[in-house]
Amino acid sequence: MPHTTGPGRIGGDGSVTAHAPAKVNVHLAVHPLREDGFHDLTTVFLAVSLLDSVTAWPDDGLSLTVTGEGADGAVPADSRNLVWQAAELLARHAGVRADAALHIDKSIPAAAGLAGGSADAAAALVALDTLWGTHCTRGDLAVLAAQLGSDVPFSLVGGMALGTGRGEQLTPVLTRRRTDWVLGIAGAGLSTPGVYRELDRLRGAGELPASSVAGTADDVLTALRGGDAGEVAALLANDLQAPALALRPELERGLQAMTGAGALGALVSGSGPTVAGLAEDAQAAAATAEALAGSGAFRAVRAVHGPVPGARLAG
Ligand code: ATP
Repeated sequence: MPHTTGPGRIGGDGSVTAHAPAKVNVHLAVHPLREDGFHDLTTVFLAVSLLDSVTAWPDDGLSLTVTGEGADGAVPADSRNLVWQAAELLARHAGVRADAALHIDKSIPAAAGLAGGSADAAAALVALDTLWGTHCTRGDLAVLAAQLGSDVPFSLVGGMALGTGRGEQLTPVLTRRRTDWVLGIAGAGLSTPGVYRELDRLRGAGELPASSVAGTADDVLTALRGGDAGEVAALLANDLQAPALALRPELERGLQAMTGAGALGALVSGSGPTVAGLAEDAQAAAATAEALAGSGAFRAVRAVHGPVPGARLAG
């Protein structure tokens, strides 16, 4: 495994910056509740071109600042932040002191079903591995990533992958096929555990079947590798969409607005409330984003594409 470090990436002020992408779950099947209270998943992750960055400087002790999305309070700037936890975990693993001033510049909205916190954690591992010269392999970092959260391993590898277990067991899927998406971002986030609780409640009350997703992850992967965008659009599926809609009924309007503005298909991304719309190509994605921007259906709209690489050093 190649090392992620490289002294050439340390800036004149001693800083190191890494970027990591948001993800969309193109397919997300949530299996029945396990006895330990967790769910097994089968999911197709796609890393998309909406990136957060984490910069680390040499310092005594740990400190953290946040700018951009969620900096007004949704994203904690202390030990509750996954970046802080990533720093402590890497320091413990490598036997070094957790000394760094950290800064997150967020473009990925918080609590949006886009794995923004996971992206930041993955970027922090990569940046600090270089700052501290801890020379971890990608394999070492993947083990640490899985301890930080189920989506962090994917944020580290990026691209496209089949996720099983709680989403942390990854099988990378090689593809050069680009897909274009429009993200409709809501004004307020949704809590991931809250959406899972609502799913369990709806299933327990018999209001939802054991799984409501159409097709299998294999069908989606086949379509994503070779088929046209229309074929992929017909297979978009997410078991968390129904509970997200139950908690946030106005999301239905967002899904309709997305297809009404030209997307071939739309789904709630992960636990929501972001709506992801699949476009025919980059030009169509830009047109859909422009049509939605003035519609009032979303707080913000972004045209993105995937797959893009996982966490890596800037420059
Ligand atoms: P996922 O889809 O991975 O479950 P999400 O994308 O819906 O998560 P995140 O943006 O990762 O949500 O944030 C979820 C919560 O995690 C936030 O409400 C916040 O309290 C906490 N959090 C901790 N660290 C971060 C971070 N670096 N960025 C955003 N939120 C963070």
